[in-house]
Amino acid sequence: MTYQINETHDPNLRSWVESANDPDADFPIQNLPFVNFQIAGLNQTRIGVAIGDQILDLTSCGIVGLFSGEIACFAWEDPPHTLDNFCRWSQPHHRHSLRQQISALLNADNEEIAHDKRLQSSILVPLSMAEISLPFQIGDYTDFYCNIHHATNVGKMFRPDNPLLPNYKHIPIGYHGRASSIVASGTEIRRPCGQTAGEDNQPSFGPSKLLDYELEVGMFVGQGNDLGQPVSIGTAEEHIFGLCLVNDWSARDIQRWEYQPLGPFLAKSFATTISPWVVTLEALTPFRVPAVERTADDPKPLPYLSSPENETHGGIDLQLEVLLRSAQMREQNRPPYKLSRSNFKEMYWTFAQMLTHHASNGCNLRTGDLIASGTVSGPEKEARGCLLELTWRGTEPISLPTGEQRTFLQDGDEVIIRGYCEREGFRRIGFGECHGIVLPALPQSLRA
Ligand code: CA
Repeated sequence: MTYQINETHDPNLRSWVESANDPDADFPIQNLPFVNFQIAGLNQTRIGVAIGDQILDLTSCGIVGLFSGEIACFAWEDPPHTLDNFCRWSQPHHRHSLRQQISALLNADNEEIAHDKRLQSSILVPLSMAEISLPFQIGDYTDFYCNIHHATNVGKMFRPDNPLLPNYKHIPIGYHGRASSIVASGTEIRRPCGQTAGEDNQPSFGPSKLLDYELEVGMFVGQGNDLGQPVSIGTAEEHIFGLCLVNDWSARDIQRWEYQPLGPFLAKSFATTISPWVVTLEALTPFRVPAVERTADDPKPLPYLSSPENETHGGIDLQLEVLLRSAQMREQNRPPYKLSRSNFKEMYWTFAQMLTHHASNGCNLRTGDLIASGTVSGPEKEARGCLLELTWRGTEPISLPTGEQRTFLQDGDEVIIRGYCEREGFRRIGFGECHGIVLPALPQSLRA
């Protein structure tokens, strides 16, 4: 099922939740991103959608009977609910119907609810009262490398004459990451220790000195595929529940020593931060754009990675920003400093191509699997999505407003990723934030 622009995207829709009508709100009624949460003090997971500075508690809505049709048939009476069990139960047409029902429920024109404060308080939870957890129990995490600007920049540092390897324009490059260390936005990140070596190849063990972030976008698998059963490019998006922001923290010195011949390992697996809001593909419909145009010199993708629809609508116009706030900036009450901005429409391979390629050997993807895009950079210098690129391996330091300099991350640095979609004639929608502060490495005495 391909989503169409419909009444839920109408820019004139307003909600009786006033904070959602602020033009700068990330979560207006046109967005409706999903979240797993608990109400402070109640030890029970529920599912909701963000609306302004509130969460609409879908579990409560279901229990008081606000849903109709097939949506009313989900086991609302039987919490705990998670996005995992909702996704396993639902098909794309259920989610479309749920979105329509939630939109109508939150609409300012819904007189019945707009004036019923008692009902409102039973189905809304202020964000400040909610304990937000990871959206899914992530079974598998795959990280791609599908941005050609990032791949070219990193390639240039190591192979100036031949930055892109011969496979790059034929195959979406990826590797299997680590799911257990994925954390929700706000979780502190401990600087990893590991084995590193200089140019002399003499290794030592200790805290990483070249800690970096990577600006990425992730997709969550809604419905998986059976083992042995590939997914066609034409149906790939039916398997995508929605998108989030990803910071794929990376220890460049550990990576440099360990990555050959099998690829990244401990340089990546110590932590990955994601934004907890899952923005659905249907919410993103107005912001779909053609996939990156391949030049006359570029090879055409093989047929299994190719479809007219992917060419015309495979991309997403999603603006991305990375900001940094050092400990000193926090002490001086300075706002975060913008390091870079780029756009997800710059991806060489689309999410549909990544998912299709991933399953092309019969590998089964499962509900809640996270598939990340790879670092999202752009052609301009200010669009580079990690410090490795921005400071060109540390040779071009960045000056912060405090006068501090950065080549890589220092202890106490907070990295903040934001994402939002804007288009003339439509309401801006946002992804919320993906942020985390770097803690010092664990002292030797505390390493068990
Ligand atoms: Ca990565």
